[in-house]
Amino acid sequence: MRPSIIQKTPAGLRVQPNLADYHADRARFSWAAARADLPTLPDGGLNLADCAVTSHARGPNRDRVAFRFLAGQTSDELTYGDLDLQTNRFANVLAELGVGREDVVFVLAGRIRELYLAVLGSLKNGTPVSPLFSAFGPDPIATRLNRGSGTVLVTTTSLYLKKVAKIRDRVPSLRHVLVVPDEPGEPLPPGTEDLARLLEAASDLFTTVATQPEDLALLHFTSGTTGAPKGAMHVHEAVVTHWVTGRDALDLHPDDVFWCTADPGWVTGTSYGIIAPLLHGVTSIVDEAEFDAERWYRILSEQHVTVWYTAPTAVRMLMKAGPALAAAWPRPALRFVASVGEPLNPEAVWWGQEVLGLPIHDNWWQTETGGIMIANTPAFDIKPGSMGRPLPGVDAAIVARGDAGLELLGDDTEGELVLRSGWPAMFRGYLNDPDRYARCFSGEWYLTGDLALRDADGYYWFVGRADDVIKSAGHLIGPFEVESVLMEHPAVAEAGVVGKPDEMVGELVKAFVSLKQGYTPSDELRQEILGHARRRLGAAVAPKEIAFLNTLPRTRSGKIMRRLLRARELGLPEGDTSTLEGGA
Ligand code: AMP
Repeated sequence: MRPSIIQKTPAGLRVQPNLADYHADRARFSWAAARADLPTLPDGGLNLADCAVTSHARGPNRDRVAFRFLAGQTSDELTYGDLDLQTNRFANVLAELGVGREDVVFVLAGRIRELYLAVLGSLKNGTPVSPLFSAFGPDPIATRLNRGSGTVLVTTTSLYLKKVAKIRDRVPSLRHVLVVPDEPGEPLPPGTEDLARLLEAASDLFTTVATQPEDLALLHFTSGTTGAPKGAMHVHEAVVTHWVTGRDALDLHPDDVFWCTADPGWVTGTSYGIIAPLLHGVTSIVDEAEFDAERWYRILSEQHVTVWYTAPTAVRMLMKAGPALAAAWPRPALRFVASVGEPLNPEAVWWGQEVLGLPIHDNWWQTETGGIMIANTPAFDIKPGSMGRPLPGVDAAIVARGDAGLELLGDDTEGELVLRSGWPAMFRGYLNDPDRYARCFSGEWYLTGDLALRDADGYYWFVGRADDVIKSAGHLIGPFEVESVLMEHPAVAEAGVVGKPDEMVGELVKAFVSLKQGYTPSDELRQEILGHARRRLGAAVAPKEIAFLNTLPRTRSGKIMRRLLRARELGLPEGDTSTLEGGA
């Protein structure tokens, strides 16, 4: 049998870790001291893009590669100096269009260079920015643009034609659509502007707007059990968390070549695919392509990646691809591997140790936390299956919610994971929904909605979600958003959507629907409803399976009991059904 711990010995570490002594570093940590490491602007100003880009462009990192973009067989680089000039151009494009601090820029694109210019250039201009998943269908795009009152959208010609053109008249706030052609010389869709031409005409001199630390910088949409997606608001001050966690959880050192495989449409792809590595002046690899086991091993090997941040679904897919492929691509440079977003099975941590020659460091955080909170770090042993320990500057606890408030629970007791509020990257609100934000806190504690336990050594273990949201391939999916689109199909009377455990993607989206009078279940109808959902929601969100039921279980107050649908699907005990309509 394997031991239950992977021991770290200082001799086994190739680079002296930034976080050397967990307990001592935690005791001595202060956010104010961390903040002093970062550059500021006049009048107490702080700007994420100034810290991430301009400060390097002014110093010795000017000629260092900031991003290496891989597309097909080609690659294209931007040094910190180039990135500074090009993001200046983007900021000038916005300024010339009259786009300012009250506006919101949305970006809907694959991982292309312009996405990165748009995010950082918007921040320089003081304009909040929200990157969206390019795999979203027209409905999730329209919902988010409307909730965020988007004034500018940066996208590509093909995404515009396929997804945005049909919903454009539903988004009255949208004043400018700036498109990147997929092929040079492609005709410009009516109602759009040519981003390449605008960038070319713009000056590359720009003085970054002296945003204040509490000014809105990034808007990331996340899903809840009910209602429309929530826009988590992050401010420029978040940069302090990005800086510290890049140092302590990802162990970034100045000579690193870092690869974060997450898409910026998800908060990981922004906090760690854009900002944290730039703060540390390292070179980031950005791959435009989707997952492919051989391509990924080739990138790790040929790009000499030293620090790799990926996700459990990808690790499981690599495990499935077999050890021979891993052996075919030597990775002598790789020294640290981390993963986030969903539970990482102990088996996967061991696989890393045995096949990659390095254990995988699971870590935990959420859209709302803006940065890594709990992590396996280089500074202590790994207990495979655990998310690790709270980072310096982060206080976590396990609680039970009671009538009299929160009860702090002891070790080895399952409860809700909470964090002491006040770290710099904590979200400052859900856009236009102060009540929902207020419900996330009890006294000084932020309630994460995750169930977990802490062991006697201070390691945290993920147990599950306290609500019905679905985690599929690392993406959080709100059942309500999916149900609403299913209900719009003429045959569907009611819909309940749950996560069905799946070995590869964690959970897959499964829908239960009952049909309106006059419709009968058939494979053909199932395919038709699946197609409707895919067209409207996009492949990343749409259900993979649909089952027909005569009626869906509802509470007496009329709410669909997703918990019960899930229990029945899995053959699990049905639990408390006392509120079920028609009696238990
Ligand atoms: P998101 O806001 O989309 O990043 O999703 C956050 C949620 O993903 C958390 O609340 C957890 O439910 C889940 N999650 C993130 N990291 C982990 C992890 N290391 N282990 C288990 N679940 C995780």
